[in-house]
Parts: sequence; C-alpha cells; structure tokens
Amino acid sequence: MRRPIIAGNWKMHKTVTEAIDLVNRLKRDLYDLTDVDIVVCPPFTSLSEVAEILEGSNIALGAQDFYWEAEGAYTGEVSPIMLKDVGCRYVIVGHSERRKLFFETSEGVNKKARAAITFGLSPIVCVGESLQQREEGRTFEVVREQLMNSLKDLSEDEIMRATIAYEPVWAIGTGRTATPGQAQEAQSFIRKLLSEIYSDRVAQLIRIQYGGSVKPDNIVDLMSQDDIDGALVGGSSLEAESFIEIVKRALTRT
Ligand code: PEP
Repeated sequence: MRRPIIAGNWKMHKTVTEAIDLVNRLKRDLYDLTDVDIVVCPPFTSLSEVAEILEGSNIALGAQDFYWEAEGAYTGEVSPIMLKDVGCRYVIVGHSERRKLFFETSEGVNKKARAAITFGLSPIVCVGESLQQREEGRTFEVVREQLMNSLKDLSEDEIMRATIAYEPVWAIGTGRTATPGQAQEAQSFIRKLLSEIYSDRVAQLIRIQYGGSVKPDNIVDLMSQDDIDGALVGGSSLEAESFIEIVKRALTRT
C-alpha cells in the first residue's frame, strides 16, 4: 500500500510568530505518527524559522512555489537551491491559484517540476478542472492536458520523486468538497494516464493526493478510496486542531 501523505498549504497566512506557534503545536501532537508523511508549506518568510523547529522531527518542510532557475536576475523570485538550503524537501507546483491569478501554464509547471527534481526537491504537482469545465463534461480532457504537459519529458526515475495532487478548482476554499466518488473517478483516471505514460509499476507507486475543502469530517471517506493516497489541505491546515485531526484520521482509513 502507498504511504499516505498529508500536506498543509498555508498560502498567504501566518506571520513568523504565528507560524512558530502553529508548527510547535503540530510537532507536539503528531510526534508519534510514523506511518504517514506529514508536510507543512508555510510562506517563504517563515521557512527558516519553521525549518529550525522541525529539524529531526517527523514533519517535513515544503514551499508553495519557486522559480525554475538556479539563480540570477529574477527580482522577487526564490530558487530551488534556496529552498533546499533552508531545509525544504517538498515544493508545490502548479497550484490552481498560481495558474489562475498569476497566469502559470502547464509548460511553466513542467519547468518547475523538472527544476525541483534536479535540485533535490519533491514536487507536488497540482492539476484540476474548473466548475465550468466540469459542467461542460471536460474534466478528463482538462486533467489529461494539465498532467501530460506538466510532466512532459520527465523520466521514470524523475516522476517517482513527484506527488500528484488532484484539486478540482471548484472545491478549493469553497467548502464544497468533491464527493469521494468524484475524487476517486478523477484520481483513477490520473493513475491510468500515469500507467500509459510510464508503466503500471510506476503508476502503482506514485501517490495522488486529493485537495479541495478537506476537513476532519470528510478525510476518512476520501482516504477510503483506492486511488486517494493523501490530501493537500488549505484552510483546515491553518488551525492546529483541524490539521492534527486530519492527519490522525487519515490513518484510520478503511
Ligand atoms: C489548497 O489550497 O490546495 C486547498 C485544497 O485549499 P482548501 O483546503 O482550503 O480548499
């Protein structure tokens, strides 16, 4: 069975003091969980302080984005080398908020996924359809296009370093979760695509998270689906209680 992975995307929330407080509570209450990968993705400004607290713990550090070049004249950007240096192991790429608000394309996401792997980070590659695309019956087409272009030319060894996050845009931050059946349908489609692009063996090993209004009271049903291996959690990762509960309940899946 694939090892579950629960990641918290804090987005543009938490000052350094608030981040320290939250991560100290997570560390205290989740220290004994060894059968799950736990990841927190604070804003850039608190990565360093959070890294110090997490050192030697069972919680890994991730970033929410970066630019694909190693260094250079890219005002305002942060490189994969810098993320690695500060202690990140994961980085989210292609989140729908970046695609929508900052006009990121799957081609750019592909460059980021490749750069992340080159510099020793594990990318969490996000894909997902909008409400309109779902209502037009284009979910599979959109997810296929995003996935194929975001993973373009990544070798079998490279893709094994990645996690895929299926995040239907209409479920992000809306309180409207995809039903376990809807999420499973899309995620089994993604796994089938991975087996076509790579191989059955690779598709069976890659973890696919669900993201979109995950809460303590829906995580167990979601995790009980065959192709849901974890969650990318936004809003509910901002409070220690709800994130702790999500991680613990994820392990009770049937
Ligand atoms: C996300 O930002 O990836 C996300 C899934 O947010 P939320 O859990 O708030 O819907």
